Amino acid sequence: MSSTETVPTATDRAERPPIQVIAPATGELLATVPNLSAVDVEAAVDRARAAQPGWEALGFDGRGAVLRRAQRWITDHADEVLDTIVAETGKAREDAQIAELAYGAAALGFWAKRAPKYLADEKVRSTNRFLTGKQLRLRHRPIGVVGVIGPWNFPLTNSFGDVIPALAAGNSVVLKPSEVTPLTSQLMARMLRECGLPEDVFQVVTGDGETGAALVDHVDFLQFTGSTKTGKAVMKRAAETVTPIGLELGGKDPMVVLADADLERAANGAAYYSMLNGGQICISVERVYVEDPVYDDFVARVAHKVAALRQGVPGAPGSVDIGAVTFEPQLELLERHVRDAVDKGARVVTGGRRGEGPGRFFEPTVLADVDHTMDVMREETFGPIVPIMRVRDAEEGLRMANDSPYGLQGSVWTRSVKRGRQLARRMQVGGVSVNDAVLIYTALEVPMGGVKRSGIGQRHGQAGIRKYTVPQGMMVVPFGLKRELNMYPYRSWSSGLLARMIRMLNRGLPYR
Ligand code: NDP
Repeated sequence: MSSTETVPTATDRAERPPIQVIAPATGELLATVPNLSAVDVEAAVDRARAAQPGWEALGFDGRGAVLRRAQRWITDHADEVLDTIVAETGKAREDAQIAELAYGAAALGFWAKRAPKYLADEKVRSTNRFLTGKQLRLRHRPIGVVGVIGPWNFPLTNSFGDVIPALAAGNSVVLKPSEVTPLTSQLMARMLRECGLPEDVFQVVTGDGETGAALVDHVDFLQFTGSTKTGKAVMKRAAETVTPIGLELGGKDPMVVLADADLERAANGAAYYSMLNGGQICISVERVYVEDPVYDDFVARVAHKVAALRQGVPGAPGSVDIGAVTFEPQLELLERHVRDAVDKGARVVTGGRRGEGPGRFFEPTVLADVDHTMDVMREETFGPIVPIMRVRDAEEGLRMANDSPYGLQGSVWTRSVKRGRQLARRMQVGGVSVNDAVLIYTALEVPMGGVKRSGIGQRHGQAGIRKYTVPQGMMVVPFGLKRELNMYPYRSWSSGLLARMIRMLNRGLPYR
């Protein structure tokens, strides 16, 4: 095993039994991985720190070459990558193909190409006349060692995806994947090694929450994707070492359907973007508000489409539409949300129960006649359940959409693009679409992040790589006086001259 894969150097391994990785769709044991200790994590970060300057010194071209080789590798090894993701998450093969493999390949190329532009030195012209003749630059230096902690829903896109820009910026990275889905991260480590990444520049530390918490203590920047609850714990922990963090947390994304919408397109959008990846997407459509005149028609269309979905153990391409529930405790949460909604007057139009078999499944479910007293409209569900609420008009829909502690993404569906844009601008979310949803995530040029309790900071776009750097101001004096006017010794003539200059440079300013 290379040092770029899981680091087997535990000193107290005996106290932490290895983690069993179970296939959610079949219950089969896939592998065991070490549950690394805080000591292991510190050692990994030390090695990463030692390796970072060499990686930074390769420059954008040298680093980009490794990432471009990885872009080819991932497409050449598509079957192995998909097999690994499907096995450990239980998702449909098509979900892994479009939302993980395609994303990962595109992101490797994107950051290799865009990093030099996003992080190029900037010439700065100062308004301070006292600096005339001095050259000013703004640099974006790599921050050092970046820690990434990822969730189980997208082991490639949402764990390794955050690693790519950090590497492109010249950092070394230590990744702690979810204990539920560590195998894809290990495969990505093998990929980078085979593509020529220097040793220790990327390491995977497998383990549980304790392993993740230890990572927060030692890195120079921590990017976390996961639940709002754990995000708060990470933020508290990072305060101990004053470590900067990025948080991509939970969501409860609203979809507002106006009476003039193309109902068939909107119903397809609701069915697909609520069920895609088994609904286990932070930017899934998690609640739908439909104007009264088209409500019944819309519910019937969505229910018809959702009821037709084929769920089961993912096999060959085209075999199932929806796979398993990746994380076991989610099943109870899904049951609780349905039970609570029904107790408060909701109607199960289709689905509503756990599925059959040794694996973990939950039937694709449509709930109608829901309202904001129900948990399913207030808390993140993160599963194949779509609740649809009747609203009087667009204003009520928008008010309901904004009535949430979350603010990741949202969408408005209408044939009037102008009205759609106006409503979209008033939605309190980090990203918004008109007549679409979720897909905006694949525009890597557009920053993606949450407002309210959905997080801090962004991935993608310029902001998605600058967060892994430290701005460094630089001033260079090519030709200087032997002694500047402000330097010692202080004299009355030079102080007087300075006073006159200050008055002259500032007297154009208006009094208040
Ligand atoms: P969790 O918050 O439970 O876990 C996320 C990661 O943090 C895991 O690797 C976990 O390890 C680790 N962890 C657990 N405890 C700690 C701790 N005290 N300190 C540091 N790390 C810790 O999230 P899930 O894995 O359940 O993922 C689902 C959640 O992720 C959903 O809420 C979803 O909305 C959110 N998400 C957000 C996205 C976004 O971009 N905004 C994208 C995708 C998901 P372990 O698994 O071993 O416990």
